[in-house]
Amino acid sequence: MLLLVDQDAERAARQVEILQAYDAECIEVQSELGQYESARWSGDRDFNVWDAAVWHCDARTDAEELTRTLVAWYERFPAVPVVVVANEPDMTVAMAALRGRAADLVSQSVGDDGLVAAVDQVLRQRPDPIDTISPSNKRVLVVGAHPDDAEIGVGGTIHRLVRRGWDATVLTMSHGSGGGDPEERTAEAQQAAQVLGAVLVMEDFPDGAIDDSSGTVRAIERVVRRIEPEMVLVHSDKDTHQDHRAVHRATLVAARSVPRVACYQSPSAMVTFQPNRFVDLRERDLEAKLAAIRAHGSQSRTRAYLDEELIRATARYWGRYGNAYYTEPLEVVRASTPTRFQPAGH
Ligand SMILES: [Zn+2]
Repeated sequence: MLLLVDQDAERAARQVEILQAYDAECIEVQSELGQYESARWSGDRDFNVWDAAVWHCDARTDAEELTRTLVAWYERFPAVPVVVVANEPDMTVAMAALRGRAADLVSQSVGDDGLVAAVDQVLRQRPDPIDTISPSNKRVLVVGAHPDDAEIGVGGTIHRLVRRGWDATVLTMSHGSGGGDPEERTAEAQQAAQVLGAVLVMEDFPDGAIDDSSGTVRAIERVVRRIEPEMVLVHSDKDTHQDHRAVHRATLVAARSVPRVACYQSPSAMVTFQPNRFVDLRERDLEAKLAAIRAHGSQSRTRAYLDEELIRATARYWGRYGNAYYTEPLEVVRASTPTRFQPAGH
């Protein structure tokens, strides 16, 4: 989503159309350059929804004010780049935009195509921990001991990766008979995976007594071999649930050839869970996570840790370590160069 700031309502309306045609989902028009300044601490808006902002300056825009507003913007929204559009940008405006770390400065004279190209370029360059991975092999496997583990840990990340063209597979090691009717839980897990755009694979290990023996390792290996993921996400071993720890250990063995492995946080994670990677989530990723968790209706009636406010607050809390309003935390176990890039013989 783009934010368009323009005092000229007619031009703004036209550009809303142009930018929408180029895959901007929705654009908001605000009339005053400084208006978001007043809104910025109001808390009644979720600023996390924007991917970038386009600011139109006119002849009346003061250069110092432009820098000041840009600085204030980036303090509040470090991950939302700003494209400044000026009538006839002179050196003063260029310096002001540079000082304020504008992502780009374009002249009004570049026309609609020029503006679209600038926005496109800025969105591509947007710093993003997941995009910097930029694998040619966009496949992720998420392993969880029970139905709902993957959704609680990385539901937002899965949704986000799928949105960005990844194929996601959720491997659930048990039908969760310890927490309810296995058939009902299986149907719920299917629905949850569908909400996130993931494919569900279910094993039938005994809920509460999953071990890390060769049988467990082999079951995970079969899926790893079939989908050849670039990245595997699994429970952390800093977890009080024995099933979670066993699945963690078995997965690390089964995924030994996978370039990237990281661990997610479960409600049973210990306080020693120590994430070092934070996946930025958009509002729609969090909404999808909540919808996927809601699909586990048999659980959300009885489990306090599935409370939506808690899930949202947790993502918001971890957001302080990332670039976004909401994030999901990961402990990176391995982030190696894919083997295909290694010289022959190694
Ligand atoms: Zn679990």
